[in-house]
Amino acid sequence: MNTYKLLTPGPLTTTDTVKREMLVDRCTWDDDYKAVTQEIRRRLLELAQVTDRDYTAVLMQGSGTFGVESVLTSVVGETDKVLICSNGAYGERMTAICARARIPFLHYAQRYDRTPDAAHVAALLEARPEITHVAMVHSETTSGILNDIESMGKAVQAAGRTFIVDAMSSFAGVEIPVETWGVDFLVSSANKCIQGVPGFSFIVCRRDKLIASEGKARSLSLDLYDQWKSMEADGKWRFTSPTHAVLAFARALKELEAEGGVAERHRRYAANNRLLIRRMEQLGFATYVDAASQGPIITTFFYPDGVRFAFREFYDYIKARGYAIYPGKLTERETFRIGNIGEIYPEDIEKLAGIIADFLAEQQKEAAAV
Ligand SMILES: *Cc1c(COP(=O)(O)O)cnc(C)c1O
Repeated sequence: MNTYKLLTPGPLTTTDTVKREMLVDRCTWDDDYKAVTQEIRRRLLELAQVTDRDYTAVLMQGSGTFGVESVLTSVVGETDKVLICSNGAYGERMTAICARARIPFLHYAQRYDRTPDAAHVAALLEARPEITHVAMVHSETTSGILNDIESMGKAVQAAGRTFIVDAMSSFAGVEIPVETWGVDFLVSSANKCIQGVPGFSFIVCRRDKLIASEGKARSLSLDLYDQWKSMEADGKWRFTSPTHAVLAFARALKELEAEGGVAERHRRYAANNRLLIRRMEQLGFATYVDAASQGPIITTFFYPDGVRFAFREFYDYIKARGYAIYPGKLTERETFRIGNIGEIYPEDIEKLAGIIADFLAEQQKEAAAV
């Protein structure tokens, strides 16, 4: 089998030691297994910089979207209204979730290359008392832009509303002091910056607000409160849990700690990202997001100007040499994306830059030959 590293926002390249954890089958009813779940929940609170007194963590089967859907459909009541601030596909997905579940919502759509504005939201909350919740993405993986959830959280908290954050592609790759920033529900998943494998999402919840949501859920399997109630008792998942993914995740958490925690992981990702952008700019590629709002996770690049450029060819050429990149997700311009999270180091970025330089040189040679 041809193997290659993933320069994508998840699933991403994991260590061999994380993958090896999945060679053992576990019994979900067993005390050892339930203890693993409890240890994961405890560690997640530490990473979120919150205490067990005010916050609690819930693990939920499925990919990240299932976690976002679980929160929106479980905590926003029938007489509530959620303001969704979007600047990309993942923010828009929250509106799709609400529309499908008939959850009352209001949509504040920002341009994809701009971050949602906290002052605008503060004014909206002042003018519209019926808004009870505000939801937003932290790292918009659509473009790679990093949104300012700190300012937004403060505005939402000052207005006495509940703040829901999709921190899928940022949690553990960017420091998020959840309580200090006024976040009430934070969603992320196993296969992003903690560097586990896909299979479940997790939600860090303000305890009193989670408890207040009892009975509001519109779905049985995604009922956040019920899932928590069962886990809180003894670490038991309500329905079959992704045992192999859970064990891999527990290992990934230990490796995160060994690396030096979120601060060190952030340093590595940011170094990868700066190097990537520098090398790509040297090769003539421009970024979609301004340097000031560019996040350290994934970068959107425009197709090069003035030359023939076929993404499929570019992708295949790079993949054959050991790396998988990502297509763009913008509608108005032709772009592609390169992620730099997972088990990726500056030497990978240097290798990738060399492969791309070779590709461009071969294309030039071909163009000169015709
Ligand atoms: C990955 C991701 C999700 C979840 O996507 P899934 O395909 O369901 O895992 C949600 N939001 C953001 C910002 C993401 O990067």
